[in-house]
Amino acid sequence: MANLAALSFHGCPVARLGEKDTGGMNVYVLQMARELAGRGHRVDVFTRCHDPHDDRIVELCEGARVVHLSAGPLSESKMALFGHIPEFVDNLLDFAHSEDRSYDLIHSHYWLSGHIGLEVNRLWGVPHLTTFHTLALAKLRAHAGEDEAEMRLSVEGDVMEAVDGVVVSTEQERDDLRRLYGLDSERVHVVTPGVDLDLFNPGDRAGARERLGLNGEPTVLYVGRIEPLKGLDLLLEAVAMLDAADSRLLIVGGAPGRDDELERLRRRARELGIGGKVTFTGALKQAELPDYYRAADVFVLPSYSESFGLVALEAMACGTPVVASRVGGLKTFIRNGHTGYLIPWHCPEPFAQRIDMLLSNPPLRETMGWAAADHARHMSWGASADSLSRLYASLLEAPVESLARS
Ligand code: UDP
Repeated sequence: MANLAALSFHGCPVARLGEKDTGGMNVYVLQMARELAGRGHRVDVFTRCHDPHDDRIVELCEGARVVHLSAGPLSESKMALFGHIPEFVDNLLDFAHSEDRSYDLIHSHYWLSGHIGLEVNRLWGVPHLTTFHTLALAKLRAHAGEDEAEMRLSVEGDVMEAVDGVVVSTEQERDDLRRLYGLDSERVHVVTPGVDLDLFNPGDRAGARERLGLNGEPTVLYVGRIEPLKGLDLLLEAVAMLDAADSRLLIVGGAPGRDDELERLRRRARELGIGGKVTFTGALKQAELPDYYRAADVFVLPSYSESFGLVALEAMACGTPVVASRVGGLKTFIRNGHTGYLIPWHCPEPFAQRIDMLLSNPPLRETMGWAAADHARHMSWGASADSLSRLYASLLEAPVESLARS
């Protein structure tokens, strides 16, 4: 079994989820660390100190821990983080030295950590895998109005060239890497993410609705970060078109009062005349989400781009049908017309039409909800970790000269 160094510079696995920069990647790193430790690996996840209340070392479970390393001011903006990488690298090397610990393999997450992996590996010389989680060019091509720094584009290219393999969530991402960056598909490995089935499963729907104070009103739910890429304008426009006059839209995520994008959406809802129908709950702990997923009649994810889309899988696991854009990972696990609907256009009418269909037809909702839960039941994090573990083993057994490191 291996000593693994997971690098997640700006994605702390124990950070509060659902705010601007915390979401799927944090969950992925946390779940994989736990599951890999459960398979006998020793995992240290190195991340940047961002919260004065965090302990330096947090034990996730036996064999897995998070190590917070200082690198710049605690509340540094994401754009400025690159400048603090040298401090992070020094602290990481000091930590390994002070513990007399060596690592057999590096797995870096996101382009910033990919760069850190290259720096650290000048000394360690071990296999280095990276997962980008999102790609700058894929985001730019989605035309959701978000910018990406030139620096990110060039670092992503450098990291791809130098690592021993790139781990992606779907075949689509493998294809994006080949098409957009010219990366040889043989160096790209698909490991499908999973869902925490102990937490997310069909449960007491009526109890969940009662706890959330929902009466009989048809309820549409969105969960996730609040950013233009997620297509929330489109969702508000779709809800404004619904036949059901008494429908309610719950938007979970973000930081009400502190988040410009969320306040802009609140204004937009008022402009559309649905201000009173929309509730912005702010970010919630994952443990609070099952009630929301179960209480909802329909879960909607109208993203312009989505590497995978964990929230849609969580909703399905709770037995709720999903109406989502036909993009990225969503295409791989939502079965159109069976577990929900995939919409190939970024415009509100088809979303409104499918949401209306589900809201007005309880038997359809129930059938799709059961099919959704049944599909999600086979997608555990354990299965993801088995596949990642096999990939690690193949790299650790490979003769060094066969690895593609430059
Ligand atoms: N999440 C959460 N609380 C929130 C909003 C989101 O715990 O208020 C979690 C959610 O359960 C999911 C993750 O954040 O596991 C978001 O992952 P996803 O892949 O959907 O989106 P990303 O952040 O990668 O764009």
